[in-house]
Amino acid sequence: LLSPGGGLGVTIFEEMTTLAVQTGAINLGQGFPDEDGPLEIREAARAAIAAGANQYAPGKGIPELREAVAAHQQRFYGLSPDPASEVVVTTGATEAIAASLLAFAGPGDEVLTLEPFYDSYGAVIGLSGATHVTAPLLAPDFMPDMAALEAAFSPRTKIVLLNNPHNPTGAVFPREVLQRIVDLARTHNSVIVTDEVYEHLTFGVSHVPVASLPGAADRTITISSAGKTFSLTGWKIGWLTGPEDLVAAVRTVKQFLTYSSGTPFQSAIALGLGLPDSFYEGIAASLQKKRDILSEGLRAAGFDVFSPQGTYFVNVDTAPLGITDSVDLARRLPALVGVAAIPVPVFCHEEGAQRTRSLLRFAFCKKDGVLHEAAGRLASLS
Ligand code: PMP
Ligand code: GLN
Repeated sequence: LLSPGGGLGVTIFEEMTTLAVQTGAINLGQGFPDEDGPLEIREAARAAIAAGANQYAPGKGIPELREAVAAHQQRFYGLSPDPASEVVVTTGATEAIAASLLAFAGPGDEVLTLEPFYDSYGAVIGLSGATHVTAPLLAPDFMPDMAALEAAFSPRTKIVLLNNPHNPTGAVFPREVLQRIVDLARTHNSVIVTDEVYEHLTFGVSHVPVASLPGAADRTITISSAGKTFSLTGWKIGWLTGPEDLVAAVRTVKQFLTYSSGTPFQSAIALGLGLPDSFYEGIAASLQKKRDILSEGLRAAGFDVFSPQGTYFVNVDTAPLGITDSVDLARRLPALVGVAAIPVPVFCHEEGAQRTRSLLRFAFCKKDGVLHEAAGRLASLS
């Protein structure tokens, strides 16, 4: 796994951010906002540190945050996890994903994901010893090929690992598609692990949590994170919810990954989760405007643009510019025009990489002026 080219090299995010820093390029590669989240949340962390919240938190998270997560699930989705036994705080969604995969999958098992898939999925499935099976999402709307998805299930499908809204494509899957996947998971007795970190970043469509669908609740671990919702990606506070037996298994693994997660940040995020609806509506509206600015600029630069319904990523096809290798382009782009982006094939196995070979992902969680400047620079490509 650690051999060169064998799987776990340097992540694409690290590679492209390093390139962007070296060349002074605008970094639309790694997804992180260039404006920090709400001041009151940041002040709450500072106050927690001053008040002495500086030693280990309980392994499953401070009660205040577990209660806030449960209240959030109730307020937005009508779900009612028990904060004592059905909520665990994690070190980012990344740890929740890793702990869930390691809890349920091992050698001889299969983990099914859609493709393209977020980079840590492939890496941690590899670390677990399970086999990674994929079913493709197809351009232009990046919905699953349902026949291929159905065929990808087997008696060994231990986990279906979903991501909705979807990184890197920006797709938001409709209720019917999610329900079909839940039904297939039931038939094959698979656990559903659903990564919903972009739950509040949707444009004109509502987020449907998988756990709210008929037949899902007793087999679904739902993952989210403060990083996206509150523009605090560096705080690495995430959480998961689910039925007590599944959550207990994940909590057991979490003990030996990090034991517990950053104490002063937990109470600050508890406060954040209680912010009024206007905050949540505001982040989606602001990002939708940014999506439109960058999409327009990318269109003007000659790309085919796949406008996303969620996340803060927009994908383009570079083929209209005569470019067929987006990995090569992404490596040259920072020096060429001063913009960094992420090639989509890196989120795929071989066949998927062929299918997506001319696709490139840009992050639009940046100041409006930065997006205009990046679009202007990209216009010089054509
Ligand atoms: N899942 C997805 C789909 C993501 O895009 C990201 C990161 N942006 C993560 C998980 C990781 O989240 P965290 O930073 O909270 O670990
Ligand atoms: N999730 C972010 C993205 O997709 C990056 C996170 C990371 O750097 N690992 O861009």
